[in-house]
Amino acid sequence: MGISEVEVMIGNQAIALGLVEAGIDLAAAYPGTPSSEILPAVTEFKKRLKRDIHIEWSVNERVAMEVAFGAAMAGKKAVCMMKQVGLNVAFPPFIKGREAAIRGGLLIVSCDDPGPQSSQTEQDSRLIGTLFGVPVFDAPSPVEARLLASHAMSYSVMHKIPVILRSTHRVSHAREAICLDNPATEKTARLDDGLKTSGGSRFGIVASGMTYNVIADVLSDLGMEEAVSLYKVVRIFPFSNDLFEFARSIENLLVVEETDEVLEALIGDRTRVFGRKSGHVPRQGELTYDVMRGIVQKVAGELGIPITAFSADTTIEAAISTVSFPQRPPRLCAGCPHRASFYAMRQAFPKAVFPGDIGCYTLGISQGAVDTCLDMGSSVGLAAGFFNTFDQDGASVSILASIGDSTFFHAALPLLYDAVRKGGRFIIIIMDNGTTAMTGMQPTPQSGMRAEGAGDHPIPIEHVVKGLGAEFLKIIDPYDIPGMIRTIREAETHLKQGGKGPAVVIARRPCLLFVKAGKGGLGKPVDLTTDCTGCRRCVDLFGCPGFRFDESEQKVRLDEALCVSCGVCLFVCPQKTKGKGRRAGEFEKTQ
Ligand code: SF4
Ligand code: SF4
Repeated sequence: MGISEVEVMIGNQAIALGLVEAGIDLAAAYPGTPSSEILPAVTEFKKRLKRDIHIEWSVNERVAMEVAFGAAMAGKKAVCMMKQVGLNVAFPPFIKGREAAIRGGLLIVSCDDPGPQSSQTEQDSRLIGTLFGVPVFDAPSPVEARLLASHAMSYSVMHKIPVILRSTHRVSHAREAICLDNPATEKTARLDDGLKTSGGSRFGIVASGMTYNVIADVLSDLGMEEAVSLYKVVRIFPFSNDLFEFARSIENLLVVEETDEVLEALIGDRTRVFGRKSGHVPRQGELTYDVMRGIVQKVAGELGIPITAFSADTTIEAAISTVSFPQRPPRLCAGCPHRASFYAMRQAFPKAVFPGDIGCYTLGISQGAVDTCLDMGSSVGLAAGFFNTFDQDGASVSILASIGDSTFFHAALPLLYDAVRKGGRFIIIIMDNGTTAMTGMQPTPQSGMRAEGAGDHPIPIEHVVKGLGAEFLKIIDPYDIPGMIRTIREAETHLKQGGKGPAVVIARRPCLLFVKAGKGGLGKPVDLTTDCTGCRRCVDLFGCPGFRFDESEQKVRLDEALCVSCGVCLFVCPQKTKGKGRRAGEFEKTQ
């Protein structure tokens, strides 16, 4: 095979390996944490195992699923991949797809985000599959995820229906040694589900996915392995008779699953079940080791089942408690062009309404330039709704929507066309950093790049905006803060003077992660400290991680490890604008 015998991989790579070993013909995806690494890994294993697979980043999840359906209907083994909220985008083909005439196989890999850690909502793909009668397999670990990818594809081919393989971020991003000697095939990829420890009928636990592995650790640490019957569920739907019989045989049953009540609802008999309905399992949030240990201790206590006193190893916590760290809330990178855009938006119209969107630029909320964030592309739709409302009520309120380039292509084209057709008078700032930055720098249609590198058909955003009929369109470098403020005000004047809306401003500068690598700083080092009066304007309105406020000195200090010398903070500091006849934010860049 040209590959070594054992490799340590994250779960998403293991899924990709299982898919390639299953003989897939087509893989289509839209990136989204925690699913983004699967498609690049399919590309890698395609090369290593010398397979012929069509691989593509689709413009959104619906397109990915429809492309996969097309291939499956034509007799191929096809897979589409997305994060859990991406499954919502793909709902039209998903709901109807149960009845589609599949001649090959169709696997939907949907990666859930319990917590959530990087999503607008927690959502359980197992529940979606179960509700619509689509078989669902729940991966408990990277090793099993690889086997399940193959097994689930075989299941789809055999039954001629779409199948979901569900992962969660703890499976997708956990690392495990994968033995490459035995490829995942129809013969080797067997389900490892059923009764795992038999502790009698008084107390039983049902668990699926990563919660199974965690609960097994908890029972071991509490010395309860022999007091509990533990049942592992891998195929969530169709619900197995064996699981039903197990549930009936147990007097007191605890169900632990992420993130909704799926097994608990399917088991049905709530009188003997400890779970979300009874209040023993939290209704939201990740079921971490500590949470699950607390659940088991509580249930065991109520049942009078003795448990070994647990003494946690607190050496790491004790060591960490002696060290003080500066607080680092989620923030845009030092020198990020989006921060400059948000600053300019706030400076141009401090009292505007700011509909935001999904991407790293949602973090504009910390600069007061993102008021709302609903779903992919919604900034434009919400802006239209706000405009209609204000217009109806005779109110004059500036509306500045912000959206990233990848999200624009993903979901905003119909919304922009609709707004143009109806003459919505609001401003759309398209933050164009040339990539899908938050999920790992996947190409956008504008780059023309394809999943496997080559590409020959870039689609510039301005062509699309013009093609959809926008009358006002300006492209500006967001590092030019005075120019950006002027352009936004010009857009508003256009709208106020009866020009056709919406007005579109493309704030174009490549993502710092593209340009930073290997090139050092972007300009001359800046000195904020010498003249600093401690006014905190830069901290409150700009908040670049490249500087920090020294409370003891009451001065700003540069963090040389993070600062990329972009110089944009010079537009923000009043000390740098003093004597120039300008206010902060209007300082002409000197570097
Ligand atoms: S120059 Fe200023 S804005 Fe740019 S990275 Fe450094 S601290 Fe941040
Ligand atoms: S804006 Fe300028 S003067 Fe004010 S705290 Fe920041 S660096 Fe100091």
